[in-house]
Amino acid sequence: MSRFDYDIVIVGAGMAGASLACALDGAGYRIAMVEASPSDHDAPPGYDERVLALAHGSRRIFDQLGVWGALDAQATPIEHIHVSDRGRFGFTHLHAAEEGVAAMGYVTPARAIGQALLPRLPAIAGLEILRPATVVSVLADEDGIDVGLITGEGRRTIRARLLVAADGVRSAVRELSGIGADEHDYGHTALIANLTPAQPHGNVAYERFTETGPLALLPMTEGRMSLVYTVHTPDAEEHLALNDDEFLSRVQARFGYRLGKLRRVGKRSAYPLVMTRAQSQTATRTVLIGNAAHTLHPIGGQGFNLGLRDVATLAALLRGADVADPGNAGLLADYAARRGGDHDAIIRATDTLAKLFSNALPLISHARDAAMLAIDLLPAPRRLLARHAMGLAARVPTLRSPR
Ligand SMILES: Cc1cc2nc3c(=O)[nH]c(=O)nc-3n(C[C@H](O)[C@H](O)[C@H](O)COP(=O)(O)OP(=O)(O)OC[C@H]3O[C@@H](n4cnc5c(N)ncnc54)[C@H](O)[C@@H]3O)c2cc1C
Repeated sequence: MSRFDYDIVIVGAGMAGASLACALDGAGYRIAMVEASPSDHDAPPGYDERVLALAHGSRRIFDQLGVWGALDAQATPIEHIHVSDRGRFGFTHLHAAEEGVAAMGYVTPARAIGQALLPRLPAIAGLEILRPATVVSVLADEDGIDVGLITGEGRRTIRARLLVAADGVRSAVRELSGIGADEHDYGHTALIANLTPAQPHGNVAYERFTETGPLALLPMTEGRMSLVYTVHTPDAEEHLALNDDEFLSRVQARFGYRLGKLRRVGKRSAYPLVMTRAQSQTATRTVLIGNAAHTLHPIGGQGFNLGLRDVATLAALLRGADVADPGNAGLLADYAARRGGDHDAIIRATDTLAKLFSNALPLISHARDAAMLAIDLLPAPRRLLARHAMGLAARVPTLRSPR
């Protein structure tokens, strides 16, 4: 009998952890998925009211995982992206047709992603779901890693070859493994809600920069749009307390009348915006993916798209590895080398955009206008921006379809 309870332990059944489990279906590993939230919840907490822009590249990955079919009906294609600066002349347009694709990305409710991923988990060969179970200790050695859990039935330690931290921004695995994290608090909070404009959205995603931070409106099904409205954090409570008409008139004042009158706003939720980046992607027998490795400002909608590329890369390496030891140092080094460039590029671009486009200083506003006009007029930078928006700038291995 093996001294190992599992080959791989995945901590977190959020989008990153659940996608990885699907990507490893049929790879021959014994996997434990450890999820802290109570099992009588419909879904873990990340599958909430938020709405995600999934890049064209993410659709490709979900296609390869056999997940896209279950998402398609709830995903709205983004055919155009319109970026503008309130009260100034700078703007940029990106068009799917110019890039030779049907859509630059797809607007998808987080809940729908849960409905596509989570029912797949019980059918994955070799996967055992431990829920509710919280990781409280890790102890790695040359051969494997002991993972201490608190479960519904008490304390328990499981041993595996590889520990995958997909446990989100406050990753306990990251901390228990001694990996530090760099943080930047933007001082902004994102308020999200669905609303319906008087005019059809025409499958355009709008990103508009205003003195108090960026505002995005993403096209959804039934003529609705998903609003991401950033405010200075001290103003968030007041915005949440406004009645619907007052809130809509604030949004209208910032967005303008490009889509006519905005009406019928749904439930509002708030997310304080902090960028967090782990100082290393790996530790002995441990790898971080998704928000545990990097949590981004939602401007440009890159967070999960970046995390899904972590998933695709790790799954491809694990599928090609010796099943006897998926946590070997060579594989972890290879993973970190392959992902570093994409992390650097996306984190730098997102952080720069968040800071540049939340700044009302005149000099910065002029630079912003000039940059947007240049992007609009010059095909090369526009194409580069489009490839980033579509999640196609990074190299991602092709996964074979699970059985
Ligand atoms: C307002 C907003 C808009 C966004 N828009 C976009 C977008 O347009 N496009 C995009 O790509 N991304 C977007 N994102 C980012 C995206 O939502 C995240 O990147 C993604 O949800 C992260 O998933 P995850 O699985 O890494 O982490 P999480 O969803 O945080 O999952 C972590 C899981 O680990 C579990 N867990 C935590 N600690 C433990 C422990 N000790 N033991 C066991 N289990 C544990 C938790 O219960 C949870 O289920 C947005 C985010 C926000 C806030």
